[in-house]
Amino acid sequence: MFEQAVPLAPLTTLGIGGPAKFFVRAESVDDVREALAFANERQLPVLILAGGSNVLIPDKGFDGLVIHIDLRGITIESEDAESAIVNVAAGERWDDFVDFAVLSGWAGVECLSGIPGSAGATPIQNVGAYGQDVSETIVRVEVLERDTGRVIDLTNWDCNFAYRSSIFKHAAKDRYVVISATFRLRPGGAATVRYPELRAYLEERGIPLDDLPGVRAAVIAIRKRKGMVLDPSDPDTRSDGSFFMNPIVPPERAPEGAPRFPSGDGVKLSAAWLIEHAGFHKGFAHGNVGISTKHTLAIVNRGGGTAAEVLELVRRIQQGVRERFGVELQPEPVFVRS
Ligand SMILES: Cc1cc2nc3c(=O)[nH]c(=O)nc-3n(C[C@H](O)[C@H](O)[C@H](O)COP(=O)(O)OP(=O)(O)OC[C@H]3O[C@@H](n4cnc5c(N)ncnc54)[C@H](O)[C@@H]3O)c2cc1C
Repeated sequence: MFEQAVPLAPLTTLGIGGPAKFFVRAESVDDVREALAFANERQLPVLILAGGSNVLIPDKGFDGLVIHIDLRGITIESEDAESAIVNVAAGERWDDFVDFAVLSGWAGVECLSGIPGSAGATPIQNVGAYGQDVSETIVRVEVLERDTGRVIDLTNWDCNFAYRSSIFKHAAKDRYVVISATFRLRPGGAATVRYPELRAYLEERGIPLDDLPGVRAAVIAIRKRKGMVLDPSDPDTRSDGSFFMNPIVPPERAPEGAPRFPSGDGVKLSAAWLIEHAGFHKGFAHGNVGISTKHTLAIVNRGGGTAAEVLELVRRIQQGVRERFGVELQPEPVFVRS
């Protein structure tokens, strides 16, 4: 069950990172408990890994136990005219669930089509795209508390969701393993389209908002143009998706000419615009890593790239944006420590 010296790079979308000292696939809650006990007895650090699409694994690898989340199952808990309550096991592919929801005629996650990774990771950074995020539809998150082995339900409120953020990234970092997430979707509902680019695409093609499969196809088509749908034949998708969050700053600190969107008391800036205007263009190369030729926000492995190179490029970009605009860029992926 417990393997040793397992290469992790192939389990990530960036294709970067050294081996795991120990590795195990968890297909049930008991498997997770057993794996945690194994690590506890040997005082090993633990890394929870799922689709590997939002992590940067060090070149040295992980000197502990990697628990790969493989819990499966989608269960419809209830369905009536108002809502469909659907429980999704953590190891289900997120996009398979979105496809299932859209084909069932349930609105609520259609704009999150084409996002790689697992369903269980979506609450971690409150996955979002095109103006929609999972905090709008998650009703509860079932978690295993790592210290006690207890399984508990967290409500949406407990998760403290915010832009690309939740309790799992901050106050309760490393405290829980997500076992499943439960969503409330709207049968027969119309798509929530808040992004002008997506709206224009739908209008040009005459796709109505209640055509959920049509909206899903539109989202995937737009994402493909930006290299944001995994495709082995497209090297621009060997990435972690958007590498930096869009910074939120007080309105008076927004650089002149920068596009801005109201966000609470501040304004949200486009990280892609800041990076581009700080001199880092699409296709920018730094050794074997670089910036996607399709999207300034994506750092890509151009072949044989290392985590050290990614970190160097991240620092160069952060410094460039800081010097040019006085704005601090925060990375979105989780930097694993060896
Ligand atoms: C091409 C591309 C496009 C992307 N587009 C988007 C996008 O539009 N919007 C967006 O929000 N993100 C996007 N991402 C980022 C990524 O797909 C999401 O963050 C996704 O939810 C990560 O899922 P994962 O299963 O791959 O998580 P992993 O990368 O395996 O893990 C990410 C973090 O979550 C933790 N984790 C994972 N599963 C669990 C669990 N069950 N319990 C506890 N902790 C867990 C891990 O320990 C790690 O800290 C994109 C990535 C790529 C490569």
